[in-house]
Amino acid sequence: MREALHVIDNELYRLPYSATKEEVNNFKKLADKDLFQCPHCKAKLIVKYGDTKGIYFSHQHSEACEESRKIDQAENRYNRQIERETKIHNTIQAILYDEISNQAKNNTMIKVGYGYRAKPDLKEFPDIWVKVADREFALSVITNVNSLVDNKLSNTISKRHQYFLEQGMEPIWFVEKKEQAIEREKNSIVLWDAELTIAAKTNQDREWDSLLASLMKDTMFFKYFNYPVSTENIAIDVRSMYYIYSNEDRIVVKVQRFLKDRLVKPYRAFLLGDGYEIPFSDAVLIKNEFLLSNPTLEAQYQNEFIQKFKQLQFDFHEQQRIEKERQQQEEDTRQKLMQEMLQQEQDRRKKILEQVSKQKLQGNQERSSVSSYDDLKFLLKERIGLTQPQQMELWNIYMPKVGYKNSSMVWDLFIEHDCKSFNELRVVLQNFISVRR
Ligand SMILES: [Zn+2]
Repeated sequence: MREALHVIDNELYRLPYSATKEEVNNFKKLADKDLFQCPHCKAKLIVKYGDTKGIYFSHQHSEACEESRKIDQAENRYNRQIERETKIHNTIQAILYDEISNQAKNNTMIKVGYGYRAKPDLKEFPDIWVKVADREFALSVITNVNSLVDNKLSNTISKRHQYFLEQGMEPIWFVEKKEQAIEREKNSIVLWDAELTIAAKTNQDREWDSLLASLMKDTMFFKYFNYPVSTENIAIDVRSMYYIYSNEDRIVVKVQRFLKDRLVKPYRAFLLGDGYEIPFSDAVLIKNEFLLSNPTLEAQYQNEFIQKFKQLQFDFHEQQRIEKERQQQEEDTRQKLMQEMLQQEQDRRKKILEQVSKQKLQGNQERSSVSSYDDLKFLLKERIGLTQPQQMELWNIYMPKVGYKNSSMVWDLFIEHDCKSFNELRVVLQNFISVRR
């Protein structure tokens, strides 16, 4: 039975996986002096070495105690669980463990351990288990997330999240994802399926809830951001994700907050700014609960968002004002043009009238300048007070026979016969039509 952990003076130690022959001998000598004991049954441990197993502890006569067997099995299950993870997973797990252990040294309320070791009876394990007073936290690191469409991994993680909750632990996830699917022009982030489930709700998120509640009193809020909100009465529920990546040889956590929105694919959420980066030590600082933020950067982040909101709000109303002005100008121009056209038409008719009176005075028989039925109507109204029924009679009975295009011919007949009334014109037209036939 391979046991890499042992206890010296109540502190837990882990043996190196590889060692020189000299180092192995040294460990063996220390073991002979009863230096190592099982962390569970406190029995004396001996040191062994195998080519494949490396250096390891064993109970005497290879009789491992039950607890240590159980943890060994848990470790095997845990190793299968993290098979898909990359190298960075171990690094971050170690950082998390160190950071929290350091805090635990000065705070007896905090207890920390590797998940499979602290809770060997679980079916699935958090990487790090933490207890703060009577709250338990399940910290997990997920690396190797490249695709938004990795449904299998997404399902696994969502289920694990649920399982941790059922086991009375509050899950916290760190996801190694280099790129977020951000639709900048819509101010939205499209979430990976699992993110909708695993996103955290911290005290900072609750602060954002109240900030948004006040900003969203402006009913145009989402219009300013051009965000296609999925429902009229969106519930204000801000969540946060913690993305990890290496930045100039440092591993950092990026805090990204969003307002939960769509619960069907695509899982679009309202993006709250660009988030900010913090070192791991800030992320896992414990004050009643995990801080998962940096107070200074958080205040700056909120302020930037408020400024952006105010700018967009101003731009939106300014744009509306300009558009209204443009429409008003367009309307004014249109009105002016109409007025001009009307004036032109009046001038034209006045000219015709003048010309016709001149012709009449001079007894001129030349072709008149009547060019349309409208002109004819107008002239007859001026001269003999053509009524609506008379006009209808002219249009329906005589024009078809004279020809609709021959309005000027009718006018010429009118002048030629010096008609004084519609009755006279009617007689002239009847004669004209019968002769033509
Ligand atoms: Zn034991």
